Amino acid sequence: MLQQRDYDCIVIGAGVQGCFTAYQLAKNNQRTLLLEQFLLPHSRGSSHGQTRIIRKAYEQDFYTHMMEECYQLWAQLERETNTTLFRRTGILVKGPEDERDFQLFRETLQRNRVPTETLTPDEFARRLPHMVLQTGEGALIDTTAGVLYADRALRAAQSYFQSLGGVIKDGEKVLNIQPGSTVTVTTASGEYRAKSLIITAGPWANTLLSHMGLQLPLTVVKINVCYWREKVPGTYGADAHCPCFLQTASEGAEYHIYGLPSNEYPGLVKICYHMGSETEPDRRDRQTDQTDVRILSRFVSIYLPGLEPEPAVVESCMYTVTPDHHFVLDRHPTHKNIIIGAGFSGHGFKFGPVVGKILCELSLGKVPSYDLSPFRIQRFQTHMKSSL
Ligand SMILES: Cc1cc2nc3c(=O)[nH]c(=O)nc-3n(C[C@H](O)[C@H](O)[C@H](O)COP(=O)(O)OP(=O)(O)OC[C@H]3O[C@@H](n4cnc5c(N)ncnc54)[C@H](O)[C@@H]3O)c2cc1C
Repeated sequence: MLQQRDYDCIVIGAGVQGCFTAYQLAKNNQRTLLLEQFLLPHSRGSSHGQTRIIRKAYEQDFYTHMMEECYQLWAQLERETNTTLFRRTGILVKGPEDERDFQLFRETLQRNRVPTETLTPDEFARRLPHMVLQTGEGALIDTTAGVLYADRALRAAQSYFQSLGGVIKDGEKVLNIQPGSTVTVTTASGEYRAKSLIITAGPWANTLLSHMGLQLPLTVVKINVCYWREKVPGTYGADAHCPCFLQTASEGAEYHIYGLPSNEYPGLVKICYHMGSETEPDRRDRQTDQTDVRILSRFVSIYLPGLEPEPAVVESCMYTVTPDHHFVLDRHPTHKNIIIGAGFSGHGFKFGPVVGKILCELSLGKVPSYDLSPFRIQRFQTHMKSSL
């Protein structure tokens, strides 16, 4: 059978951002090809696993604003595919009251009138008896927050994309990109052409961008995804009204610590450190640094006394981190029909539906729905003089 080789748009990478971008393009009647190097589903990138946190609580207004529409688009995909993708649990934001990050979260929640509860120490002890609030710490609950069912969400976006006529080719690694008014993409199986190309390659973004002489200041880090056993099963479960949580600062931790109520593995609570050690995406598990696990063990023993303080299960994932931890959502500086979505810095999943919409708008030459100045490549000028 003759294979179709010509498309309106090609998307490289079927993680959360590529899947939602392809879904948006198909909704805009674009003949779209989504290429993925590994057989789907896979656990080699950043979007695998069963759960992610969704929240409006952020340090910056622009993320909180984007979340308004994100919640609507997540609900839309739920309706379109008749699938539950979201469970509301709220998120506890906790940290020293005089610390900058905690204050930024509180101010953003207030300024944007996000439904929030402030817990006094007494209320905290009553509502969350298995967590510790130290003297001088504040506690807020963003009640809009909850858990996204990540694997299920990817499947839903992929199947809806296909139902609109979109084509997914997995197990097809992109080996070369030839820019031009028609972009040519080469895989081991042949060549495909399209009017525009969107690169959402997660930790492999720079490998692909090197075909076009561009290198972004991205650092790929391995995250030890740690699951901690409840001493009494269910203590920290969503059914026991345990929220997700985010600790803005704690002794010995330079970055945030976050967790989700026990869910995917009964009796185990997922808690991670919001940074890891540098790795190469194709050699991820050669990185064996356990510094983050030690920081987490200490945190668990102090703040979550109902958990065993050694992880029961450790899985692997990767973040692709920019210097300011903000995303890259932009056109290639020279090839305007090549669009880049990268550097999601460990907090991009919840934004998938809006990221997809923005990347689709950029590829169609539409005015983007959001001010993209925080996400421009130009902001890295000092980091990457040679390639801009
Ligand atoms: C442990 C962990 C917890 C997290 N928790 C949260 C959270 O609670 N909330 C939240 O919002 N975010 C969270 N994140 C972040 C979020 O998961 C990521 O920001 C998001 O998954 C990034 O998606 P992506 O599509 O950019 O990358 P990826 O999922 O890595 O997708 C990129 C895809 O491109 C493919 N690809 C690469 N090169 C090629 C090629 N040459 N040819 C073909 N295909 C190619 C890859 O195989 C991969 O499938 C978390 C991340 C981790 C690791």
